[in-house]
Amino acid sequence: MLDGKVAVITGGTRGIGRAIAEKFASCGADIALIATSDSDAAKETIGRLEKTGRNIRFYICDIRNSKDVTDVSEEILADFGHADILVNNAGITRDNLLPALKDSDIDDVIDVNLKGTVYMTKAFIRSFVKQRSGNIINISSVVGLMGNKGQANYAASKAGIIGFTKTVAKEYGSRKIRCNAIAPGYIETDMTGSLGEEYTKAITAAIPLGTLGKPEDVAELALFLAGEGSRYITGEVIKVDGGMYV
Ligand code: NDP
Repeated sequence: MLDGKVAVITGGTRGIGRAIAEKFASCGADIALIATSDSDAAKETIGRLEKTGRNIRFYICDIRNSKDVTDVSEEILADFGHADILVNNAGITRDNLLPALKDSDIDDVIDVNLKGTVYMTKAFIRSFVKQRSGNIINISSVVGLMGNKGQANYAASKAGIIGFTKTVAKEYGSRKIRCNAIAPGYIETDMTGSLGEEYTKAITAAIPLGTLGKPEDVAELALFLAGEGSRYITGEVIKVDGGMYV
């Protein structure tokens, strides 16, 4: 389904990004993974991906730094020859009630989640325009749609991604470049692993499907958005949240 395609995935070493990378590679895509550390998780992910026989490369880059993003995009385009799909997935949380949020909590979350997404897209858009094709999938969050107590910085970053997604869809649709966002609800990953039993119980009770999601649930939608089956869909925000926000 993605034979011959090259997918660039930020934060592809763990959680949702890893599931997307595995799904895409198993469907024939070559993968450029980006994260800030050569962690055990990164090594494990690369090992798993290499078993698919696809071309898998790992790049260390902090997407907060626009110069590093430009450099890594050039390296990826030189290594693979081109790129077809960009998944802006890397993201972090620094949760607290508004008065307790440190400036660094606000900056870090906006810098990684929102500015990182903008930098990455800016870095690849020229090559997408040149080849008259490209597919951008941004990982937002239901929190960007509905807000959430204790996540003012995170909600702002994820809502920003939605405005950015719609703008890129409008700006580049005529060049056959699509841009969509996925808004996951609560998905079982390292990010939600530290929420505690009580909180997780309360969240689960508010989800009509009665359970947290799995990274693979998000990866299934990413695969649909990456493929030809969604060729007439752009500028959309699609939730994968078990009905949590309806
Ligand atoms: P994880 O914490 O499991 O993984 C985050 C990934 O991002 C890691 O690979 C991490 O690698 C990478 N990363 C973090 N900071 C940077 C950076 N500055 N530059 C490059 N890479 C970075 O997160 P999830 O899989 O849970 O989340 C993935 C995305 O989905 C995020 O955008 C998140 O906001 C969003 N999301 C998640 C939900 C959930 O319930 N889990 C719900 C809604 C949205 P390393 O640490 O080595 O850099």
